[in-house]
Amino acid sequence: MDTVIQIRLWGENPEKAASQCAALLTELENTWSVTKEDSFLSRLNRGETVSLDETQKPVLEKAEALSLRTEGAFQPKLGAVIRAWGFCEDTKTVPEQKIIEAALRKEEWDLGGALKGYAGDQCAELLQKAGIQRGILNLGGNVQTFGSKPDNAPWSIGIQNPEGGEPVGTVAVLGTMAVVTSGDYQRFFEQDGVRYHHILDPETGKPADTGLRSVTVICKDGMTADCLSTALFVMGLDKGVEFWQESRDFEAVWICENGKIYATEKAAFSGAEFEVISREN
Ligand code: AMP
Ligand code: MG
Repeated sequence: MDTVIQIRLWGENPEKAASQCAALLTELENTWSVTKEDSFLSRLNRGETVSLDETQKPVLEKAEALSLRTEGAFQPKLGAVIRAWGFCEDTKTVPEQKIIEAALRKEEWDLGGALKGYAGDQCAELLQKAGIQRGILNLGGNVQTFGSKPDNAPWSIGIQNPEGGEPVGTVAVLGTMAVVTSGDYQRFFEQDGVRYHHILDPETGKPADTGLRSVTVICKDGMTADCLSTALFVMGLDKGVEFWQESRDFEAVWICENGKIYATEKAAFSGAEFEVISREN
């Protein structure tokens, strides 16, 4: 998954459970990664006849449902556009307008905005079945918890400062929960003095430019958290707040380009000054 993965577990036989978890992550990557030519998703993109098994179909259906729910802000079929920018390779470059337009017309799957969250869900389930009572996984900034901390206190998850250095603050979560951040600092390149990041506006095929540096989503379901963090980044603050007010299944923290932080009333954010977003707003 082109990232560092950290796993902390408490329970019986943690080494064995951790290696089962590593095997599962490898399997998920081999199935869903579009940078692997022979993955299931790459074969599907090439138009090969692939049969969906009972674990694969729900993932694609859920991605499509979250795309609908976010009115296309999360768009799992931006694969050709992402490839044109070279975000998956070492050849990152600004594509010509006509190439972007042609790529937008293609419908190629890319679950880069959903997979780490999905993997978090799957790992938490596997670990609990393997007899692990509590754990915390960090899949490249996608944090998944289950159980409580050994002292029964909530987990405290740092939210990265887009400028680097110490976290800007923390959110507190209990039990099975995912804390997923989409930020413009996570993957980017510079060309002719302009910075281009990896979260694309599906309307334009270009990096979403909505005045945000990051959005963190806190949600029981990891894949939903991952898709929504990407979608909320694309929507920008105002639309994202409206979307949250109409939803009931997640909390969120926004960090703006001007440094201002907004957090929903139950996000349990602390550590920095912020404006509370409530349903009455
Ligand atoms: P994330 O870091 O979870 O926000 O996801 C960003 C990754 O998802 C990118 O590296 C792309 O592979 C893919 N992606 C970029 N823009 C979008 C979008 N609007 N909807 C869905 N996936 C996207
Ligand atoms: Mg995401």
